[in-house]
Amino acid sequence: MSSVYNWQLGREMEYPYEAAYPDRQFAFVFNLNRCIGCQSCTMACKSTWTFNKGQEAMWWNNVETKPYGGYPHHWDVKLLNLLDQANPGGQTWNGTPQALKGPYGQFQGKTIFEVAEKNISPEGAQRALGYLPADAEWASPNRFEDNPSASEKGHKGQMAFSGGELVPQHKTWFFYLARLCNHCSYPACLAACPRNAIYKRPEDGIVLLDQERCRGYRKCMEACPYKKTHYRGTTRVTEKCIGCFPRVEGRDPQGGGLPMQTRCMAACVGHIRLHGLVQMNQDGTWKEDRQHPLYYLVHVAKVALPLYPQFGTEPNGYYIPPRWVPRPYLKQMFGPGAEAAVEKYAHPDRELLAVLQLFGKDARMCFRYEIKPGPKVFETVIRGKPFEIYDDTIVGYARDGTKIIETKVEEPLHVRDRRYANSI
Ligand code: SF4
Ligand code: SF4
Ligand code: SF4
Repeated sequence: MSSVYNWQLGREMEYPYEAAYPDRQFAFVFNLNRCIGCQSCTMACKSTWTFNKGQEAMWWNNVETKPYGGYPHHWDVKLLNLLDQANPGGQTWNGTPQALKGPYGQFQGKTIFEVAEKNISPEGAQRALGYLPADAEWASPNRFEDNPSASEKGHKGQMAFSGGELVPQHKTWFFYLARLCNHCSYPACLAACPRNAIYKRPEDGIVLLDQERCRGYRKCMEACPYKKTHYRGTTRVTEKCIGCFPRVEGRDPQGGGLPMQTRCMAACVGHIRLHGLVQMNQDGTWKEDRQHPLYYLVHVAKVALPLYPQFGTEPNGYYIPPRWVPRPYLKQMFGPGAEAAVEKYAHPDRELLAVLQLFGKDARMCFRYEIKPGPKVFETVIRGKPFEIYDDTIVGYARDGTKIIETKVEEPLHVRDRRYANSI
């Protein structure tokens, strides 16, 4: 085992290989407050990469209804239970948050790598604590769709929603969690593969699986805490999300040579996704890049948080947590930054409101933004705090400096001509 620095945990941790970081890392932010569960992202990926025989149960991108839904079934609860059994009561956080090196404080518990080293299962040593889902667990990827938690029934047995509509937290709640491979900085799939078939690209940190080397042992499926590698029975090898690397490289003709967001990002109907390449330091932290939208959302506004950072793979997918969900659930899923992230999102400042307008505006990747101030157009008080909206203009630039986005905070109002009042 090597010692590597995991900034999401605020500490060094053990990992089977030496650390190596790309100059730029594939990363994305999803705003869960906006996801409508339409599965357009899922179908964009499926129709591009996994439409062949043997790929029926292969959903590189999936959207599940939390808390009950999951693909494979209960993937996260199962691993949380395994970690808790291995380190009873010890999976806690404390310490003082420190800028880029540990913005969420310090994780005192054990990661899937640290637990595995001491945990020799009957099948032999594991490189990362995990489990292999049974075939039935991959069936019905949309199980428990729209099933709320803690639903309260009225006297006639109908859903009563008593108190459920109140902000900030609802008693009756669910939300859609869109997921794909996190192209982790310390991938558990890579760590566990006995054939060295999985590698992380030095140019963009995308994690790929070489199907020529793979023998279908499924050690990656067992180890990936997010269960994002998929076995294909017809070829007897495993496949996974390829990060749409031809688009990231700028080889999609639509991008005119510029890096493009992936298919699942660009197809998102709810405009919840923003995808990019962030600059990395050689100690594994992010390089300061103040005007990069992902850097701003993760490290300045701190509204976007990693999914289950306690697993220890340093996932590069970040989420703006849904603001109506009970905080203990969000803290379990996104770590100790959840409360502050929801608070910030519920009372956005001028810059955050502007940056949120970049989501879904252009399929090309945004590497830098600038904001041109506009007039104040609205003011009110939200839960005791003053809130103002300025009609600022935000401009986004591609890698080569080309202007790709120019949009305003206030949506334009279009008044339909009376002659077309009843037409579409
Ligand atoms: S999410 Fe899973 S499959 Fe993707 S890089 Fe991380 S460990 Fe590997
Ligand atoms: S990044 Fe590309 S390959 Fe990966 S889930 Fe999205 S569409 Fe599929
Ligand atoms: S396309 Fe966007 S809004 Fe629709 S399910 Fe996917 S992430 Fe959610």
